[in-house]
Amino acid sequence: MCAPRIVQVAHEAADRRFSRRAWFGAAGLGAVAAVSGAGVARGGPGGFGSVVDLTHVLTPELPVWPGNPPFVRTPVAWHENGGFGQNALVLWEHTGTHVDAPLHRVRGAASVDLISAADLVAPLVVVDISAKAAVDADAMVTVSDVERWEDEHGPIPERAFVAMHSGWEGRLAVPGAFLNLDIGGRPHAPGFAVEAAEFLVSRRGIVGAGVDTLSLDQAASREFGAHTVFLGAGRYGVEMLANLAQVPPSGATVIVGAPKHAGGTGGPCRVLALV
Ligand SMILES: [Zn+2]
Repeated sequence: MCAPRIVQVAHEAADRRFSRRAWFGAAGLGAVAAVSGAGVARGGPGGFGSVVDLTHVLTPELPVWPGNPPFVRTPVAWHENGGFGQNALVLWEHTGTHVDAPLHRVRGAASVDLISAADLVAPLVVVDISAKAAVDADAMVTVSDVERWEDEHGPIPERAFVAMHSGWEGRLAVPGAFLNLDIGGRPHAPGFAVEAAEFLVSRRGIVGAGVDTLSLDQAASREFGAHTVFLGAGRYGVEMLANLAQVPPSGATVIVGAPKHAGGTGGPCRVLALV
């Protein structure tokens, strides 16, 4: 699905020298340093006001893509018999709030340990399609949705992370509603339209894209075109984001705490928004 033209344009865009100083200045470089250094949730003057956790608690009950096993946590040492607590975890990489590395979709592409640290901190753009997703489980983020966002908030910043807010998180309270399987076992949930993915990669130079559903693509898709465009262009994805209703559509900074295991196709991550 990912035309060579798109990949080439995306790589050219990535090679351009972007001015990071502009948005670091806006977000407050000191604020970023404060979080990484002390884990403090409050920024100082000129920094951010609060930290919003965009991560779901990982439990065995959290829905996973059909066919994937649930997360398992097994205590293997505990304080009574060793002095320290330790669990062994068994999970597929694409479980809970997690990163998709380019390798997830494209053979030979970058594994999760090779995602640039600089790309994991980015201006956060939240495109809200919850109104249409409420009446159409197959709704998609379209180029028109992106253009409407820009009409309201100005141009998407360079090297941004663009997240779809479909409101799907609210369905976690209703058994079966998040996966939303039809009688044939096919899930239905919103995602990015292929054209919107191409637009964001080639025309807006984003570093990554996120969704509050289980797939960058519309879940019923069998083409997985948005995956192919984003990951094929060397960008990363984050799936199953939480709490997007608590962050503004523009102006926040996202930090994606991606795992760093060699050869990984992705993995559970902690995602924070500095607001
Ligand atoms: Zn994934």
